[in-house]
Amino acid sequence: LLEFDKVDKFFGDTHVLKDVDLNVEEGEVCVIIGPSGSGKSTLLRCANRLEEIQDGEIRLDNQSISDPNADINRLRQRIGMVFQSFNLFPHKTALENVTLAPTKVKGLDESTAEKRAESLLDRVGLSAQSNSYPNQLSGGQQQRVAIARALAMDPRVMLFDEVTSALDPELVGEVLDVMQGLAEEGMTMLVVTHEMGFAREVGDRIVLMADGRVVEDSPPEVFFENPTTDRGKQFLSKLL
Ligand code: ATP
Ligand code: MG
Repeated sequence: LLEFDKVDKFFGDTHVLKDVDLNVEEGEVCVIIGPSGSGKSTLLRCANRLEEIQDGEIRLDNQSISDPNADINRLRQRIGMVFQSFNLFPHKTALENVTLAPTKVKGLDESTAEKRAESLLDRVGLSAQSNSYPNQLSGGQQQRVAIARALAMDPRVMLFDEVTSALDPELVGEVLDVMQGLAEEGMTMLVVTHEMGFAREVGDRIVLMADGRVVEDSPPEVFFENPTTDRGKQFLSKLL
């Protein structure tokens, strides 16, 4: 569904993605792990065209994302992204944050958008908070609004970049639960995370990146029990 085909990305002279091949299949949860600076965020940002690539191709539903002539706005509607920082609109309520893009970008009428937003907020466990402003919500609640907002565009795939890293430990679980629920409903997900419990339990595949390359790509039971590569073994030994 989402394919990276021999992708190379440079920042100036720095080669940050090196010949990356990755195919996230429909309904799959692909978890990316790896040391700081290995290129995980850059990979996600390229998938959303927040960064341009220099070689190779990225495709969604067999359509090029990386083609300079691709319709970026249409593409972005089909790819939901959630970041470490929630980036909610501070002067809009939770409900308004979720209805904004569907009404402005998709041209959905106000009442349809609101009904959908209410059901999405309910799905992330926030039906009681729909009229709250971001500063009245905990970090975990804000992050769940951000997930609902991304889902409101009905994306084909969801990208998550360390969405629990900025949260107090006691708030991490509620966000991971929402992500697990999405996974169980069959959402295609590409997830960068340090939460190894989540990776192991929810991930269909673990992709280890190091120095801009994919160095291991294994099912979780293989990766966490008996990694097939030295880099995988090394990474695992540091976790234990
Ligand atoms: P972390 O776990 O710390 O989030 P990461 O795996 O997400 O790390 P990236 O943020 O993708 O790593 O960074 C990969 C490399 O690209 C790093 O060497 C980083 O310094 C470099 N880099 C990232 N963004 C830029 C930028 N806008 N300009 C120049 N170099 C960048
Ligand atoms: Mg990162």
